[in-house]
Amino acid sequence: MRKFAKKNLIFLLKSLEVDFKENFPLKDFTEYKVGGNGEMVVFPRSMDTLKKIYAFCSRNSIPFYLLGGGANVIVSDGGVEGVVCITKKLDKIYLKNGKIFAECGVSLEKLAIFAAERNISGFEFAYNIPGTVGGALIMNAGNNYGEFADIVCLVKTFASNGRELIFRQTLCKFGYRTSVFREKKLAVLSAVFKGQKGRKEEIFALMERIKREREEKFPLEYPNAGSVFKRPKGHYAGKLIEDAGCGGLKVGDAMVSLKHKGFIVNLGNATAKDIKNLIAVIQKKVYEKFGVKLEREQIFFPEDFE
Ligand SMILES: Cc1cc2nc3c(=O)[nH]c(=O)nc-3n(C[C@H](O)[C@H](O)[C@H](O)COP(=O)(O)OP(=O)(O)OC[C@H]3O[C@@H](n4cnc5c(N)ncnc54)[C@H](O)[C@@H]3O)c2cc1C
Repeated sequence: MRKFAKKNLIFLLKSLEVDFKENFPLKDFTEYKVGGNGEMVVFPRSMDTLKKIYAFCSRNSIPFYLLGGGANVIVSDGGVEGVVCITKKLDKIYLKNGKIFAECGVSLEKLAIFAAERNISGFEFAYNIPGTVGGALIMNAGNNYGEFADIVCLVKTFASNGRELIFRQTLCKFGYRTSVFREKKLAVLSAVFKGQKGRKEEIFALMERIKREREEKFPLEYPNAGSVFKRPKGHYAGKLIEDAGCGGLKVGDAMVSLKHKGFIVNLGNATAKDIKNLIAVIQKKVYEKFGVKLEREQIFFPEDFE
C-alpha cells in the first residue's frame, strides 16, 4: 500500500473508531494455522464502517479482502497486501416475522443454536460447520443433512462500486460449493433465513447426533480446513486419494490425514507452500491412477498466490 494511502486509511479508521492492526499475523484467524501477516487487519463492528472502509479501498485501489472464520482458506506465507477485514464482530442476530436475520460474521454454531432455541428446524446441518454466515453463503456450505441454499430467503451484498444489492434465494445461483457472490466477488453483509416449525428437544438431539458423527470421522486433533477437494461426480475424493496411495503422504509438516483421506492436517509447523505442494501431488497421483481431476474446494488467500 502506498504511504500516502495508508496514512489516509489510518486517519479514516481512527475517525470511525475501528480496531485495526498493522502487519498482523493472520494464522491465528485461520483453522489451518498457516500464513503470513496482513498488511492492515481491521475489525469493524458495524456494517456502516465495513462499507466505508471497502469504499475507501476501492477508490484508492487498495486490495480489500474479507475473512470470516478462516475455516476454508490457505493464507499465503508471504502474507496479504492491502486490507484484510475480519468480520467476526459483525454478529447481530434476531428473529422478525418468523425469519432469522443474521450479519455476515455470525458463527454457524450460533446461527444453529439461535434457531433451535426458537423451535425452528432446518439449521441443524450447520451446527458443526466451522465459520461464519458470510463464508458459508459464498460457498453454499453444507453436508449430507442440508446446505445453505435450503434455508436462505434473502442475501444483502455490497459491491466494490459502492452499490448494495439484495438477492432473493432464486437469484443466488447456489450450486455445489458456489454462488453468485463467489462468482461476482460480492461482499455478503447479511442474510435472512427461514426454517420449519420444530421441537427444540428434537432439533438439539439431531444437532448433537450430527456433531458426534462428524467428530468420529474428522481428524480434529490437528489443525485443518475441512475437505480439501470437491466431490468429483460419481466418486468420493477421500476414497480416490486413499486408493491412489496418498494416505499419510507428507510435504513438510502438511500430511494427508490417515483418519480421513480427504483432509490435509497441519502437524505443527506446516506452511501454506507445504499444503499447496501436497495438494498438487495428490491431484497428480489421483489423475495418473484414475484419470479424475480433483478440484480444490479450499481457497488460496489471496486467490492464486504463488
Ligand atoms: C473441521 C472442518 C469441517 C468442515 N466441514 C464442512 C462441511 O461439512 N461443509 C462445508 O461446506 N464446509 C465445511 N468446512 C469448511 C468451512 O467450514 C466452510 O467453507 C465455511 O463456510 C467457511 O466459512 P468462513 O467464515 O470460515 O470462511 P473463510 O474461510 O473466512 O473465507 C472463505 C472465503 O469466503 C470469503 N468470505 C468470508 N466472509 C465473506 C463475506 N462476508 N462476504 C464475501 N466473502 C466472504 C473469504 O474472502 C474467502 O474467500 C469445514 C471446515 C473445517 C475446519
